[in-house]
Amino acid sequence: MMKKNQLDKFYMKTIEERIEALIELNKADHRSVADFKADLILPEEISDHMIENVVGTYQLPLGLALHFLIDGQDYLIPMATEEPSVVAAASFAAKTIRLAGGFTTEAKSRVMIGQVALKDIDDKEVAIEEIIKNQDQIISIANSAHPSIVKRGGGAQKIDLRWIDKDDEYGTPPFLVIHLHVDTQEAMGANMINTMAEAIKPYLEQLTGARAVMGILSNYATECLATARCQIPVNILERRGLSGEEVRDRIIEANQFALADPYRATTNNKGIMNGISAVVLATGNDTRAIEAGAHAYAARSGQYRSLTKWTKAENGDLLGELTMPLPVGTVGGSITIHPGAKFAHHILGSPHAKQLESIIVSVGLAQNFAATRALVTDGIQKGHMALQAKSLAINAGAKGEEIQKVARRLRKEKHMNLNTAKQILAELRH
Ligand code: NDP
Repeated sequence: MMKKNQLDKFYMKTIEERIEALIELNKADHRSVADFKADLILPEEISDHMIENVVGTYQLPLGLALHFLIDGQDYLIPMATEEPSVVAAASFAAKTIRLAGGFTTEAKSRVMIGQVALKDIDDKEVAIEEIIKNQDQIISIANSAHPSIVKRGGGAQKIDLRWIDKDDEYGTPPFLVIHLHVDTQEAMGANMINTMAEAIKPYLEQLTGARAVMGILSNYATECLATARCQIPVNILERRGLSGEEVRDRIIEANQFALADPYRATTNNKGIMNGISAVVLATGNDTRAIEAGAHAYAARSGQYRSLTKWTKAENGDLLGELTMPLPVGTVGGSITIHPGAKFAHHILGSPHAKQLESIIVSVGLAQNFAATRALVTDGIQKGHMALQAKSLAINAGAKGEEIQKVARRLRKEKHMNLNTAKQILAELRH
């Protein structure tokens, strides 16, 4: 259990005090903090090798979501985001869910899919038969292209075949698609899978006489799913004159709307990704890969729907569940070279990839709980406006203690905008 007093009024502390609290809580040590601070501005020799045509660096705030209890373990969760209220909302939700016993999670297999698409197939049945007959050889060629992952206990395991019919509406021909299932262990595995998919391409062409269009990883990572669940008793759901039962039923109703309507589902899932992408980015993982997979998974029934499901348990509790593809890694890409990512992994206790999936999917569920609860009770603008007031104060030129003072007065104003913020600041300074 975390020493609670270190986290009390965390939002009121200075950045230095928060770092001290992290050290006292054993979530960071003086050395990791010193390394992180020394490289706070990403060093040129790192940034210049990360992407092309570098002219500088672009920074984002790194915040900590508090109160997360996941599978019985306490976490402070690093989140990199430009959006106000995301970290506060996640922490607020995690506080309620902690009272309900926290999150329970499942992250089973870490299998990614490499695709090879074949076209101009003379005889579908013969091509399929040839591939099935030679599947061991296909797997062996794939593994020979990246033997080190086999030594690590992973590698290509099996193949699946999909036939895609021609579609006259879109003018697409039929494709025979070979899916190579690869256990990527601690890596997201994009590079190893691309290497393997390209390696089996010529052999598949030779076996079938067809032409391979490409060999590439699929970001629709349906074999790398993570699930978070929570079960919240109604007595801790009461809010502003609404009974716990009413809040529960309104959350379920709001979720039904997001399951039924793609317009609502898109915004609902954007809210989930506010949390997911912030942790994915902080931990040096690929936000676009996770986002693409999440949205494809949300449309798996043929209609785009909410990724979360909120229902009523037999005993009347509120049950929440989020399942989505989460092919994140703890090695590879920029994870072990970016100082911010290294610091984030340290704060999380250097989790394994499956544990990292559990953490991230829990943040997604927390974010959805916070947003949905706010929408069906206070509305979300109230919380947002408090943070918006701070941004306006900073934009108006407020410094240090002025920021809080301007923001506080701004929230009482009828028109909360930059002009009003500037007026308040001018008055304060006179
Ligand atoms: P890397 O190729 O950078 O690193 C993965 C490598 O880490 C492995 O091949 C392995 O090499 C090594 N490694 C060390 N320890 C382990 C371990 N315990 N488990 C597994 N591997 C280990 O990264 P990825 O292949 O994961 O690819 C991710 C990067 O690819 C991201 O930067 C992403 O943005 C990018 N990318 C994404 C694409 C997409 O999403 N469609 C497409 C192309 C690139 P070895 O065994 O030889 O030591």
